[in-house]
Amino acid sequence: MHAVTDPEDLQARLAGAVGHAGAGIALFDAEDRLRHANAWFRQAYGVDPDPAPTWEDMMRRCHALRQGVLIETDDINAWLARVRPRYRSQPVRSFESDLTDGRWVWVTESLQPDGWLLMLVADVSPLKASEAAARQARDVALQLARSDALTELDNRRYIFEQLGDLLVGSRTMRWPLTVVMLDIDHFKHINDSQGHATGDAVLRHFAALLRRQLRPADAVGRIGGEEFLLLLPNATLDGAVQTLRRVRQMIAESTQAAALPLPAYGFSAGLATAQPGDTVDTLTRRADEALYRAKAEGRNRDWADSRSMRL
Ligand code: GH3
Ligand code: MG
Ligand code: MG
Repeated sequence: MHAVTDPEDLQARLAGAVGHAGAGIALFDAEDRLRHANAWFRQAYGVDPDPAPTWEDMMRRCHALRQGVLIETDDINAWLARVRPRYRSQPVRSFESDLTDGRWVWVTESLQPDGWLLMLVADVSPLKASEAAARQARDVALQLARSDALTELDNRRYIFEQLGDLLVGSRTMRWPLTVVMLDIDHFKHINDSQGHATGDAVLRHFAALLRRQLRPADAVGRIGGEEFLLLLPNATLDGAVQTLRRVRQMIAESTQAAALPLPAYGFSAGLATAQPGDTVDTLTRRADEALYRAKAEGRNRDWADSRSMRL
């Protein structure tokens, strides 16, 4: 059997529970004076027990004393002018806020029909922490899914995905797009004569050089053992050839440097510039055919696809 609780008892219990609640509870009257605030709220917002500040007084005090709500501005009047129109603008309004002690809070303001306003403040710091951790884990996973472990360049899937996007951009925005298929010459011989580890070092060296030569909008991926794909948006065939010349020069210079125990190596390149109607498939096939020609013509050289030459 439950004892019947009389209304006064219930009021007292409610007041007691509110007073010790693990969240902030505050009540403002129609003139916007703070008429009641529980201990949690006073502690979090740095409100003294006695006075009945207005919301604006409270914010000014937080700003001046660097306590309670974190207000990062030198000009509190400008801040208030920006924030005031939102305050009391809707029957229910929720937003996130940070406190000077580092906690994050979720604030819900409920405006009553008679102008009184109930403010509930909950500490959501643990949620924010797990959200940040999840976001970080997702970023790492995404990065891993898109990159090649050995060279840290984009992997095959991701570079082809980007090519699809760039082709659309090139068509609609009408800028040229040149792709370059690269393959290291006699790589098998490097592996066989100097070992797999040296082969790996050559791949990483080549990858780093390519990356260093690229403009921010360019992309480079490793699409096979010692095969790479360069995407050069807004680059003509001539521009691409210049880039490749610089890469060759840097390979020669850096493999000659005594500090690097790397064999001199060369590469062949097949270039193709996007034509109307090109797809990822047709464009990369032409670059691949051009690469095959570069190999057949003696390696360590560039070859441009014949349709691209006509551009
Ligand atoms: P070409 O001049 O015609 O390109 O000859 P190549 O020897 O470079 O080409 P081939 O395709 O015959 O050899 C590629 C070699 O690359 C074979 C394979 O064992 C090696 N390879 C593939 N992936 C890796 C890797 O991750 N590390 C190392 N060290 N070698 C690899
Ligand atoms: Mg190959
Ligand atoms: Mg090769």
